[in-house]
Amino acid sequence: MIVDYHTHTSLCKHAEGELGEYVQQAIAVGLDEIGCSEHIPMPDGFDREHRMEVHDYYSLYAPRVTELRERFRTRIAVRRGIEADFYPGTEEWVSNFVRENDLDYVIGSVHFLGDWGFDNPVFVHRYDEQDVNEVYERYFDAIGKSASSGLFDIIGHFDLVKKFGYRPTRNMKEIIWEALKTVRTHDLCVEINTSGLRKPVGEIYPDETILEMARQLEIPLTLGSDAHTPADVARDFDKAVSLAERYGRGRIVTFDKRERKEVKISRLAAPHGALNH
Ligand SMILES: [Zn+2]
Ligand SMILES: [Zn+2]
Repeated sequence: MIVDYHTHTSLCKHAEGELGEYVQQAIAVGLDEIGCSEHIPMPDGFDREHRMEVHDYYSLYAPRVTELRERFRTRIAVRRGIEADFYPGTEEWVSNFVRENDLDYVIGSVHFLGDWGFDNPVFVHRYDEQDVNEVYERYFDAIGKSASSGLFDIIGHFDLVKKFGYRPTRNMKEIIWEALKTVRTHDLCVEINTSGLRKPVGEIYPDETILEMARQLEIPLTLGSDAHTPADVARDFDKAVSLAERYGRGRIVTFDKRERKEVKISRLAAPHGALNH
């Protein structure tokens, strides 16, 4: 069994391609399940330029996933997920949105520290204007809080703060261990997200020291490409599968209506790259 649970489409205004193209690509590379995890609509115009509106969710996203799920039922399972922001003050809104909708899973992600969209290239200069150790501490503290919020199923790109290659000078192991313990306590899983390989840091999220800690805590894993274009569906999944074999006992978890199931991982039938030649 192999799945890609982290994908975005043009609905979020910063990705390309329509959902049908993602599903076609998922079938072509041999995935068993494809999950769309469009960025969640947020209240009060929060980061409006990087997400769909509430009415887009109901008129475009939700029905389109249902339609594709039916159409491709015999070839692939199409899951309706959402990537929800963890942002203090919006928990109730997110909680209501998730409860009112028929989602297969919810990825919880930290993209903001205060008003700083720290993974947005436009604001990368702000890393130079503050203590990177503190940035890391604040980030992993937020990850811990996101895990204890009770809102999510999957912790997205666990060490996203490394995206632009800014590294702490202090050892973050203890702080990361605390965040992972919270993930464990609240019985969440962590995704192996390959998009970091396509970013300045050039590394999968999370790195192997974190995956080793996750293994010790027996935290389940799942897979996501964080594709923002159909061609990136399952990108670098050969590497992701190797990591799941090593740090997840060769198992991943899948979701159906927010019910989690552990399955044995398999390799892609048509490894990525073979298609493009
Ligand atoms: Zn995005
Ligand atoms: Zn994200």
